[in-house]
Amino acid sequence: MNVTIVGTGYVGLVTGACLAELGNNVFCLDVDQAKIGLLNAGGMPIHEPGLQEIIQRNVEEGRLTFSTDAAASVAFADLHFIAVGTPPDEDGSADLKYVLAAARQIGRHMEGFKVIVDKSTVPVGTAEKVAAVVREELAQRRRDDIAFSVASNPEFLKEGAAIDDFMRPDRIVLGVEDDERGERALAMLRELYRPFNRNHERTRVMDVRSAEFTKYAANAMLATRISFMNELANLADRVGADIELVRQGIGSDPRIGYSFLYAGTGYGGSCFPKDVDALCRTAQEHGLPLQVLDAVQRVNHAQKQVLLEKVWHQFGKRLAGRTFAVWGLAFKPGTDDMREAPSRSIIRALLQAGARVRAHDPVAQEQAARALALDLQDQPQLLANVTFVAKPMDAVADADALVVLTEWKNYKSPNLRALREAMRSPLVLDGRNLYEPHAMAAAGITYMGIGRSNLA
Ligand code: NAD
Repeated sequence: MNVTIVGTGYVGLVTGACLAELGNNVFCLDVDQAKIGLLNAGGMPIHEPGLQEIIQRNVEEGRLTFSTDAAASVAFADLHFIAVGTPPDEDGSADLKYVLAAARQIGRHMEGFKVIVDKSTVPVGTAEKVAAVVREELAQRRRDDIAFSVASNPEFLKEGAAIDDFMRPDRIVLGVEDDERGERALAMLRELYRPFNRNHERTRVMDVRSAEFTKYAANAMLATRISFMNELANLADRVGADIELVRQGIGSDPRIGYSFLYAGTGYGGSCFPKDVDALCRTAQEHGLPLQVLDAVQRVNHAQKQVLLEKVWHQFGKRLAGRTFAVWGLAFKPGTDDMREAPSRSIIRALLQAGARVRAHDPVAQEQAARALALDLQDQPQLLANVTFVAKPMDAVADADALVVLTEWKNYKSPNLRALREAMRSPLVLDGRNLYEPHAMAAAGITYMGIGRSNLA
């Protein structure tokens, strides 16, 4: 099939590459000239394991095109996926300006029947707004005769495992309109997703509003599990329990399961914070505040301070002359995405308290430098106190503490003796609970995790 993907970010690029890999012809459109230029030169704008090889193969085989030419993108296919960003608006609700601009572009150039699929995470009712702007464009061109249908196909991939998630989805949610055009849209989407359903049917067909809601409900549930565990972790610190053992104890119950029960420094990333906030805003607009999710957000906000509280307790609030090693900058392993990464607020606070920071991340250092420059634009002089190093052990030399913020595999089994000997004072603040407190103690390292009975 011919498919156009609007937006070549984490979602659009993976979707385009994977659909091409299955034999479809894919046109990837973006407004960002630099990004398209980089892709056309064989470069990669993001880090996502396995993506570059797929893109290279499919470009070579002529199934994948990158362009900024909107008219050509509309002429290319009858099936259009909108995968542009939906960042938070000033009040926390989802900003639809990119989605609606993408829809407008399609309306401006379409000459025949189109299926427009919202893949971006968008609030309930967005498909109707998309349809309205397309109708407006058609009316301006006096082409109301051209039919189209707007469908919802939210994306559930996880950065860092995006290819696998896309290629082996747990479910494919399709929200379609309950009319003849909706049926036509459904037939096209079923055909596109047929290869994913060979083993068993993964498609869940529903009305558009329920599909839009499903994505928010999924992220809200996952965020709830994280905040729940973070709150219990803080209590575990006070009552003398180890939240890691508690996690294993409850995760073994199949009604609970092990996933998303890790205590840490609070959820971040480009999705959970904005999606939970947007759902809360939608609820408020309907006069039905979501009390559980409001608490989930409050707990998450507070959790971002927990590691810092441990730092203040240990060293006081003036950190001049102190050096902190930081392992992990990306909001999670497997990606270079720095959006809402806990490392940003923690490093900023350390720098503002006068500390020097020596940071390592296997892939996100460049993005992190850009993010920190943005966060510290009012105090750019502080940027001179942060350095990025090539190897994790380069960060810890003569450090007063090691702060672990992302659970990259290569941080999981450090040589504890070498760590102790390299540091000025052997203190590990483990924001991801990667290490065994007993092993750390045996190695002569003072260890503080999250909820592991060592309240600072
Ligand atoms: P992103 O910021 O990485 O990429 C968005 C891209 O869209 C950018 O390259 C931007 O230049 C482009 N764009 C903006 N306006 C455009 C227009 N009018 N025409 C063409 N291109 C345009 O965003 P992302 O992380 O890929 O997220 C996209 C959507 O998918 C969001 O709604 C997000 O919530 C959702 N989502 C993201 C993830 C994730 O893990 N990142 C997972 C599931 C769902």
